[in-house]
Amino acid sequence: MKDFKIQCQSAALDDGLMDFKGFDCIVIHFGEISIKGNNKPDFTKRLYANIKQMLEGIEYEKFEMLRDRFVLYPKNNEGYARSLERLGRVFGLSWYAPALISKSNIDSIIRNSKKIIGNEETVKIIAHRSYKELDFTSTELIGEFINREKELRFLIDKNSNSKLYINITRERTYMTRERRAGLGGLPVGSSGRAISLFSGGIDSPVASYFAMKKGLGLVYVHVHAFSDNEEAAGSKINGLLQILGRYCNSIRVYYVPAYPFQSAAMRIPHRFELILFKRFMFRLAERISDIEGADAIVTGESLGQVASQTLKNMASSQSGVDQFIFRPLIGFDKNEIIECAKSIDTFDISIKKYKDVCSISSIKPATGTSISLIDRLSESISMDDVVDKALELAMKKDYKF
Ligand code: ATP
Ligand code: MG
Repeated sequence: MKDFKIQCQSAALDDGLMDFKGFDCIVIHFGEISIKGNNKPDFTKRLYANIKQMLEGIEYEKFEMLRDRFVLYPKNNEGYARSLERLGRVFGLSWYAPALISKSNIDSIIRNSKKIIGNEETVKIIAHRSYKELDFTSTELIGEFINREKELRFLIDKNSNSKLYINITRERTYMTRERRAGLGGLPVGSSGRAISLFSGGIDSPVASYFAMKKGLGLVYVHVHAFSDNEEAAGSKINGLLQILGRYCNSIRVYYVPAYPFQSAAMRIPHRFELILFKRFMFRLAERISDIEGADAIVTGESLGQVASQTLKNMASSQSGVDQFIFRPLIGFDKNEIIECAKSIDTFDISIKKYKDVCSISSIKPATGTSISLIDRLSESISMDDVVDKALELAMKKDYKF
């Protein structure tokens, strides 16, 4: 298999230093959603709303929703730079680029192209007609560019790395230079809502990223070992959530104290505590799903990574949980997860020292627990009451970024 790289971030260009003179707008093209058939109108509406939300605080003239693209008209140079930066964090985009708009006739296209190509520059022209009824073909257009090369002040060379893309639609022709790859995936929220069990380690932020990428809107649940919820809210968890908030603008999190569980767990053998803690968290997430109208749970588990993540242990910790559980990292090696964490900027915060509830796992956990044993232990500590108690003590917090 070829070397395979996961793209977690759009290329960061230094737009603050760029000059967008000559451009009229930013064209935005959808990714995976263009193949969604009947769902397409809902998806495009969701994506449009998500982008609008992401652009909050940036002034623009207009933001159009067309059949197969969106067109944003920033007010000034700074508006272009800031909008491009934000679009780099929107799931569901295939590409976006500053564009010049011309009428769809050869004269206008050739005349306008000069506005976005420097004198003496050598460019390759890539033309595409999405409206086929026009009286010229893309090849004829390129031929006409070559015929009129003298009046252009730039050179045409099909081997040039510098490109001029010309996309001809019925009334308008969009001309772009550098296309920026979007993050791909689906608009956040378009696949439903899920509870993300969020530990603050390396894995759960990456799992949350991939869940959002597939269109899940997340509500985060963090079980902490502090005596006070505010202390947990002021911890590194907050820093991690801010980073994940880049992709969705606002975040809801439940901070839940672990001590109702910890005190109940004193009654069971140490080596089962971690599996039971997982069971506790799944039950908790399920209860919060009901409150939040969520349809799934997301975790950062990866098969076999640590003693608690053997297939048997995963099965016994989730037994009795009806909610669908997503484990986006199941097939990842730890070093691949670390690469992703670095690429989305969560790694440095994730490795900071933290008062982890899972330090209860310092005793070697059992690796092959049976479902019936965990069911019995769970009953013996009255798990439902423990979850009730923890929920009573939880704190819900909404962040807007
Ligand atoms: P992570 O790097 O995400 O902490 P891990 O490799 O430490 O994962 P575990 O400790 O077994 O592995 O945790 C597995 C998953 O269980 C986490 O990815 C997260 O989804 C959930 N989880 C663990 N601890 C907590 C917690 N304190 N609060 C909420 N969820 C948790
Ligand atoms: Mg952990």
